[in-house]
Amino acid sequence: MKEPRRGVLRVLFVAAEAVPWIKSGGLGDVMGALPRELFNLGHEVATVLPLFASVDRIEAGLELLATIHVRFLGNDFPTRIFAASYPRSECRALFIENQYYFERTGIYDDPLTGKPWPDDDERWFFFQIALLELVRQTDMQPDLIVCSDWHTALIPALLRIRHQENRALQQTRSVLSLHNLGYQGVLPAVSITKLGLPRELLFPLSPFEFYGQLNCLKAGISFADEVVTVSPTYAREICTVELGHGLDGVLRQHGERVRGILNGIDVEEWNPATDPLLEEPFSSSHLPRKAGNRPRLLREFGLDPGFGGPVLAMVTRLTGQKGMNILAGCLDRLLQRDLRLVILGSGEAQFEKFLSDVAAAHPERMAVRVGYSEALAHLIYAGSDFFLMPSRYEPCGLSQMYSMRYGTLPVVHATGGLKDTVIPFLEDTDRATGFAFEDYNAEALLEAVDTALSAWRNPRAMRRLQKNAMKQDFSWAHSAKLYEELFFQVCEHSRWGE
Ligand code: ADP
Repeated sequence: MKEPRRGVLRVLFVAAEAVPWIKSGGLGDVMGALPRELFNLGHEVATVLPLFASVDRIEAGLELLATIHVRFLGNDFPTRIFAASYPRSECRALFIENQYYFERTGIYDDPLTGKPWPDDDERWFFFQIALLELVRQTDMQPDLIVCSDWHTALIPALLRIRHQENRALQQTRSVLSLHNLGYQGVLPAVSITKLGLPRELLFPLSPFEFYGQLNCLKAGISFADEVVTVSPTYAREICTVELGHGLDGVLRQHGERVRGILNGIDVEEWNPATDPLLEEPFSSSHLPRKAGNRPRLLREFGLDPGFGGPVLAMVTRLTGQKGMNILAGCLDRLLQRDLRLVILGSGEAQFEKFLSDVAAAHPERMAVRVGYSEALAHLIYAGSDFFLMPSRYEPCGLSQMYSMRYGTLPVVHATGGLKDTVIPFLEDTDRATGFAFEDYNAEALLEAVDTALSAWRNPRAMRRLQKNAMKQDFSWAHSAKLYEELFFQVCEHSRWGE
């Protein structure tokens, strides 16, 4: 038997991304910060990732840790495991190598088609099976495996079904972390056999079954010891028909195990006073210096650097979730205001084209950069005045927190984590940190922008808003403690009665 569980926790995070190695969105940021925070609280923590082509092996300082054997689809895959350390930390990241499945550009989608890889089931099944083999063959004995989103959501089921008799894994609990319920890993029913599980497990209404197909996230919710999502409001919203993406019933059924803990941000990485990517660093006590970043931002986007009015910005995945439809519904009217709009984003081709076309029609007012650029993102957070986030739904959202930290006021749809992090001007003028609208439509978005523009015309109000925003504490310290407590509880009380 192992020692009593309160004390040092042994936690393995498993995810598709983690900064600084792999990032497509907020999940990467969270996995770059939360494991390190828990490590700093004195726990044994590591993060396991696929060794994607984008990971620079030399820059990351990868070292060969072990070679394990993974049986998958009837073959034996000798699989190398590499290790690296988190920046500014001894917390470790482990990388599972498989040249065939992971040595491709594009984490989730094939960049040539813009669509998910056709062998997505095999890629992620291999990753999850390899992770469990890694734990078993190196006798890690983690107390807890924390899975993130559908790519790793079958681990709880594999633990219960395939590894229950396995000494190395018997005591291991699982937590499923939901970063976005919109992506569930719905795969052909027959895929379940590639996992080494019998097809019969996919009977109607079973934990795996979703309208005749395999739903990885549903299986994760059903088998995990605990389900956690990234903001308290989103935890409530996903139990409703409107935002449950078809899994609200399952989530309601497991309601008492579904919690919301707000994400934090890495306040060292995102610090306007020390950010090397800025033209002019600044802080809330040297706010006028923020304006030093504006001309460079406008120049980068090919706009007149001398423009003195409000600059609105977006840094986003270009998808329906991010509110592209309602933005499209008011963009022409928005551009009639005396403002400049800059957008950095990539995603669905229809939105990339639409925004580029509108920008081409209004070259002096709006500019779009299609692509992904960490450096430009930092400059945008620093150099603009307002940050638009009209998301239809938003599990947590990090961008609004970055923008507030950089004194750029968010204009958001009041949903999910946006509701939990932005204090709207019209609700509490003294404490306000941004602007929010309730109804999800173009009119409401435009109205919120107009409120923001009227604040812009009042420099004192604007300064107070910016200072309020910059004062917010979005660091991980508080949330990491909540995770720690949650993990202790999961280890102390198994839902399976062991
Ligand atoms: P999501 O995870 O849904 O994409 P979040 O707001 O939680 O949304 O996190 C988005 C993260 O990805 C932020 O760090 C944001 O700056 C970054 N990001 C999104 N698109 C781009 C882009 N095109 N270039 C650079 N950074 C981006």
